[in-house]
Amino acid sequence: MARYTGPVCRICRREGEKLYLKGDKCFTKCTLERRSSKPGQHGAARGRKQSGYATQLREKQKVRRSYGILERQFRRHFETAARRPGKTSDNLIQLLETRMDNVVYRLGFADSRAQARQLVTHGHFQLNGHKLDIPSAFVRAGDEIAVRPHSRNTEYFKTRALMLAQKSVPAWLRVDPDTLSGRVLALPTPDELQLPFNEALVVEYYQR
Ligand code: SF4
Repeated sequence: MARYTGPVCRICRREGEKLYLKGDKCFTKCTLERRSSKPGQHGAARGRKQSGYATQLREKQKVRRSYGILERQFRRHFETAARRPGKTSDNLIQLLETRMDNVVYRLGFADSRAQARQLVTHGHFQLNGHKLDIPSAFVRAGDEIAVRPHSRNTEYFKTRALMLAQKSVPAWLRVDPDTLSGRVLALPTPDELQLPFNEALVVEYYQR
């Protein structure tokens, strides 16, 4: 399964924005705050005005990289969003938010989406009672996500259970630290999500 394995702070430097790719560590020690130039030999020299296309491209890259998805899969998500009724930009964000790896992250079982993806891939979770190790699978309203019984006694999840009791989760999710499980109460709406993206630019990028 292909994924980006390079330095993640480089991605934030490229986009010129904190994308919080390292989870909680981003709040204490952020590379971007110490080194804000773009990566690469001529990074510091880049200062030209962006074209409309470049703005759309950068926004698309920002969203795609925030969710840790490679181009081909991101485009597939966009095509699925475009086929659904309603606003494509809203559908796209809803699709991205309901990916299994993102839900595991939002429920607080992982500090970052990258970590959530790894936990899912390593078979630590089940969906509605059945093992699911596909990070790109989509959850639906009413679904239950839980740590699998054989993983519950690991040091990692014992510590997580204590941390979960102090974490808050989005309104569309509910987590139970005692059973290390969570539920999707409803599909998230764009108003609820309040994400720092301009999804309309992503749609413009693909529809150009
Ligand atoms: Fe981005 Fe986090 Fe690295 Fe800061 S610490 S540059 S927010 S990944």
